[in-house]
Amino acid sequence: MHAIVSGAGVAGLALAGRLALDGWTVEVVERASAPRASGYLIDFFGPGYEAADRLGLLPALTQRAESFDELRSVDASGRVRATLPIRLVGDAVGGRYMTILRQQVVDALHAQLPASVRIRWGVQVETAHDDGTHVQLLLSDGERVQTDLLVGADGVGSRVRQLGWGRHERFVRPIERLLFAAWLGEDAGFAADLDGKVAMQTELDRQLVVAPLGDGRVTGFAVLGGVAPADARQAIAGIGVLGRRAVRAIREPYIDDVAQTVVEPWVRGRMVLLGDACAAVSLLAGQGASLAIAGAERLAEELAFAKHPSDVTAGLATYERDWRPVIEREQARGRAAAGTFAPHTRFELEAQRAVLKATALPGVAHLVARAAGGVTKR
Ligand SMILES: Cc1cc2nc3c(=O)[nH]c(=O)nc-3n(C[C@H](O)[C@H](O)[C@H](O)COP(=O)(O)OP(=O)(O)OC[C@H]3O[C@@H](n4cnc5c(N)ncnc54)[C@H](O)[C@@H]3O)c2cc1C
Repeated sequence: MHAIVSGAGVAGLALAGRLALDGWTVEVVERASAPRASGYLIDFFGPGYEAADRLGLLPALTQRAESFDELRSVDASGRVRATLPIRLVGDAVGGRYMTILRQQVVDALHAQLPASVRIRWGVQVETAHDDGTHVQLLLSDGERVQTDLLVGADGVGSRVRQLGWGRHERFVRPIERLLFAAWLGEDAGFAADLDGKVAMQTELDRQLVVAPLGDGRVTGFAVLGGVAPADARQAIAGIGVLGRRAVRAIREPYIDDVAQTVVEPWVRGRMVLLGDACAAVSLLAGQGASLAIAGAERLAEELAFAKHPSDVTAGLATYERDWRPVIEREQARGRAAAGTFAPHTRFELEAQRAVLKATALPGVAHLVARAAGGVTKR
């Protein structure tokens, strides 16, 4: 059986690797001309962690993970208001947690990819037509390809979704006019000052998180309410001492709306959507990469024994039936978390600060971490 996967991101590579091991001939088309170096830290836990374990990916991921000892909540003057040992968050999910740059997740997936998987860089699907037994494709390099399966693992702005389902705007739901900016920059002095700690500041409609990497780089993200992309840098600097320091390290930030994708159905004949293309939970749910890997494993399992076109369509239907409820639950959780990232009212802000302050009390940090674990394990 033959599959074309559009998108060499987290979901696409995880699926391609597993399908190839199951005997599929897999080709990946990726619009970018090389692996993308942008991205920032992700908390990796939950269903994707377990899937990565089953897929034999954990050693490669662990090797590339970052380590921090503490989360520090600071105020506008840079004063530390509360601390949370990060180890406790890992403990709360039985140690099955890591912090890792998104680009390192992609790198680990590349490293594990069977040699039989061909990646066509700088290529995208131009047209796609399902003729009832195969999908006929025209690629942007001019080649025509006939395939048993076309997978849209090409992110929030999915090309496959556009071709098979329709206009982007119908499927992308911004959350509460929140803007998200993430970056990775060089600033050895700032990295040294952060001293292995993650610094966080939350204000009305604003949150900024900055973390030092071991090699003198600094990574960070900000969630900003009611700010236009062109004003993101200024808004970050306006948050306080941490913001002013952070903007100096910002190079080519990744800026987008905080958004989810909602698509119904995920399957059209022999075309299927995977990962952010149909199931973006937004960074507010914090599990995008984890769910992308788990969803890829789920889809591959349903296709492992496919020998005929009808096996493919049956497998796709089961994938959607079983995986959609998990995504809908995580999306609801992501929407509910919006106020935590960027509290809208002084009451919400003070409530969050009170919880963080309380974590400085002996025993309370454990309870907070356990509560976080309880939420994430659902
Ligand atoms: C820069 C960046 C940083 C992110 N940081 C975080 C994070 O910290 N935490 C978190 O939970 N989630 C984060 N996400 C989202 C997270 O990576 C996704 O939720 C998760 O990786 C889903 O994987 P995906 O493969 O569906 O999408 P993506 O990882 O976005 O991959 C999609 C791939 O498709 C490619 N593509 C796009 N258009 C086309 C096309 N027309 N043809 C072919 N290929 C195409 C893209 O270049 C990309 O390689 C980030 C996403 C990006 C892009």
